[in-house]
Amino acid sequence: MSSPSHHWRILAGLLLGAALGVACHHLGEGREGFRAVVTWASDWIAYPIGQIFLRLLFLVVVPLVLAALAGSVARLGNLASLGRMGLRMGLFFLGTMAFSVAMGLLAMRLFTPGSGFSPELREQLMQSFAADAATLGNASAVQAATTPLAKVNLVLDMFLPRNILGAITGMQMLPLIAFALLLGAGVGVQSEARRQRACEFLDTLADAMIAIVGWAMRLAPAAVLCLIFVATSRFGLALLGKLSAYVGVVLGLYLVQLLVLYPALVAVFVRRGPVAFMRTCVPIVATAFSTSSSNATLPTSMRVCERDLGIRPAVCSFVLPMGATVNMNGTALFEGCAVLFVAQVFGIDLDLGQQALVLALCVLSAVGVAGVPGGSLPLLMIVMAQVGVPPAGIALILGVDRLLDMGRTVINVMGDVVTAAYVERTEAARAPA
Ligand code: ASP
Repeated sequence: MSSPSHHWRILAGLLLGAALGVACHHLGEGREGFRAVVTWASDWIAYPIGQIFLRLLFLVVVPLVLAALAGSVARLGNLASLGRMGLRMGLFFLGTMAFSVAMGLLAMRLFTPGSGFSPELREQLMQSFAADAATLGNASAVQAATTPLAKVNLVLDMFLPRNILGAITGMQMLPLIAFALLLGAGVGVQSEARRQRACEFLDTLADAMIAIVGWAMRLAPAAVLCLIFVATSRFGLALLGKLSAYVGVVLGLYLVQLLVLYPALVAVFVRRGPVAFMRTCVPIVATAFSTSSSNATLPTSMRVCERDLGIRPAVCSFVLPMGATVNMNGTALFEGCAVLFVAQVFGIDLDLGQQALVLALCVLSAVGVAGVPGGSLPLLMIVMAQVGVPPAGIALILGVDRLLDMGRTVINVMGDVVTAAYVERTEAARAPA
């Protein structure tokens, strides 16, 4: 399953799907018959295959997070080690997120992709995507809350909802994590025999979910091909040309993170061969890229980290669900770049203090972003508003966001994997498994 040939098949599916989709989109321009066939194949063949894979992954997220996280807290029992792991993880998360935004802001200052943007093109894009931007604005509840009490309740709801099942059906991860931590702590204070039995049950449940992921991964090469085909055959590359400088800077930074920064962190902090490490992560990268969702990728990263990277379940079950929810390096970087890009297009000059504020807001908001496709967009509008950049300007970049979303999800998820490997090394040095 996780053999090297399977990795390459997934990667081949990814490239083939993208090439086929782009080719079909462009061949279909002006040819109605051909376009109808492509749309039919996309809707009736590619979409269902991609969705079956995606749903198998989404399906296991809630029980997996609950069982894995509660189990690891209950088993650790030892609050000192949990605190130590949490502290290392938190520092690594924060450090890499702040570094990512700083890198993004610096690159946007250097390359200023928004400064040469013509006012006509700005108007054209604003008009095409204004409706989408308006929907996002409405969806942002925190922004809409006017009274202090309403704001406090909204923030509390993000962590401690009144009804955990309501939060779970809405796929909200922060309340799920808070509940899993509390459940684990509750199990941890039971008598030894009961604690053991509960841990065994939670372990079995988590392993069963991982087994389902294994079955889903058999579908991965075909499913990844289909998911990418659906996206690229619809949108093609036409918009990309107009926004190529912006897209180029953001994607370039992602490549630097993936191919330079993360391997360097692996070599220095994890002390493992970076090439072999990154190669083992191909299924994670392909799943993140094709699903654009940290949540959907979580089961795959749990499986690969435990089975192929040899990271102990106690560490994986703690760091990866937390990471998928709060650690978003790619999102933080993207938010910083997007704010500066829109500011540049509108001719707004942000001074150093405002840029420092952007950095802080991007890190904070990335923590609250949901790990789903486009999860960062409502929060991005709030960051824009805070620093005086018109939030409706998000319309400028919506057309190419799906592509950037694929990239930032890869960076988000790989940041969690590298952190898990780092925590594993430091913990293993203290207490061999
Ligand atoms: N799609 C991203 C993720 O799931 C979130 C975002 O929109 O930035 O990690």
